[in-house]
Amino acid sequence: MSQQYPQAPPPGFYQPPRDRIIIIPSVGDTPQRMTCPNCHNEIVSVVSTEYSLVQHAAFFIMCITAACLLCSCIPYCMDSLSNVRHECPVCHSYLGTYKRMT
Ligand SMILES: [Zn+2]
Repeated sequence: MSQQYPQAPPPGFYQPPRDRIIIIPSVGDTPQRMTCPNCHNEIVSVVSTEYSLVQHAAFFIMCITAACLLCSCIPYCMDSLSNVRHECPVCHSYLGTYKRMT
């Protein structure tokens, strides 16, 4: 009497998908030379500023306490409070954000 054992799949039949790990480099507040994790080109990042949570909070607090609405907008004029967003100039993928405050 012969027993039938389940057969193992032939080698190479099933290959688990490889996880793609993208390492986002740490960034500063100025354009940085790096290898883009998306298009793998050697690039200098393009930076743009975006409003930070600190600026929104300062605006909200000044709206409550200050009498002048124009004065409440001062935090939005302060670049030293805003975050710096880095993007790839080739594929326009997001590379990271430098947060000045937090
Ligand atoms: Zn890229």
